[in-house]
Amino acid sequence: MTKPIATITRTKAIMEKYGLGFKKSLGQNFLVDANVLKKIVAKAGVDEKTIAIEIGPGIGALTEQLAHEAKHVYAFEIDQRLMEVLDDTLSPYSNVTVFNQDILEADLETFLHEKYQEGYQVKVVANLPYYITTPILMKLLRDELPIHSMTVMMQKEVADRMAAEPNTKNYGSLSIAVQYYTESKVVMNVPKTCFIPQPNVDSAILQLTKRDEPLIYVEDEALFFEVVQASFGQRRKTIKNNLQREFKDRLSQKQFEQIFEESGIEPQRRGESLSIEEFAKLSNVCYKILN
Ligand code: SAM
Repeated sequence: MTKPIATITRTKAIMEKYGLGFKKSLGQNFLVDANVLKKIVAKAGVDEKTIAIEIGPGIGALTEQLAHEAKHVYAFEIDQRLMEVLDDTLSPYSNVTVFNQDILEADLETFLHEKYQEGYQVKVVANLPYYITTPILMKLLRDELPIHSMTVMMQKEVADRMAAEPNTKNYGSLSIAVQYYTESKVVMNVPKTCFIPQPNVDSAILQLTKRDEPLIYVEDEALFFEVVQASFGQRRKTIKNNLQREFKDRLSQKQFEQIFEESGIEPQRRGESLSIEEFAKLSNVCYKILN
C-alpha cells in the first residue's frame, strides 16, 4: 500500500513535483498527520452509508481517508492548479469526484437533491479555508439542504464562539445562528504542528448535527436574526438600548415597553445573558406588534 498523502515528506514531494507553492490567500494549510485525519473521519461517523462532501480537498489528504470509508466523496476545490494534482493523488479511488468550483458559488440545493439517496446520509467533512469559515457554514445551514452533519476543522476561537453558552464572553449572534439549526460541540483540538505551513492560530474540530426542526419556534426567521444581531450590536449596552437603535423608525416608545412587558424580559439585561428561547420570545412579540 502507498504511503498516505498526509505526511510531511509526501506533501512536500507532491508540491515540488508540480512546482506549486501554498496559497495563503486561499487558506492553504495542509494536514500532514494521517492519524488526525483518521480521527476526523471516525468522529464524523463516515461509513459505507455516507455520501461525503468535502470543501477544499487541497492535494487530497483528507479526501483519501474519506474515500476509504464513504460510499462516495464529492469534493469542491477552488484552486485550478490543484486539479491535475488531485487527478494524480486520488487516481487509486474510484469513489471520488472533484469539482473545480468555489463552494460559495455552488448550487448545493440542486446538487444534493440529485445525489441524495434513500438510506444514505450526507455528511460534510472538511478542513475549511479559515478565511471563509462563517460564510461557508451559514450557506450550509440556511439553505434547505439534506445534510445530516458537518464535522469541520476551523480556527479554535471561531469553534468556541459557535459552541458557546449564554453568559460567556464567546456567546454572540454566531453561537445563536449555529445552535438554532444544529447541536454543536467541539470534538477535538488540533495542534499547529499537524499542518504545513503551520497556521498562526490554534485549530479545533467542531461537529454540527442538523436538528430536524429548529430549536425553537419563531414567527419570522429574518426578524429573529435581526433582533439577535441588534441585541449584540454594542455588547456593553442593554438590550433595550441596542434594540431602540435598530427599530427606532418602526416602533414607538410605548410599543417598546409593550415588547418587554409581554415577553417578560427585563429591558436592562445585556444580549449575552439571553437564551435562544428568550430571543425567540422577544422577536415573536416584536413580530406581533409590527404586523
Ligand atoms: N483538505 C486539505 C487538507 O486537509 O490538507 C486542504 C485544506 S486547506 C485548509 C483549505 C482548502 O480549501 C485549500 O485547498 C483551498 O484552496 C481551498 N479553498 C479555499 N477557498 C475555497 C472556496 N471558496 N471553495 C472551495 N475551496 C476553497
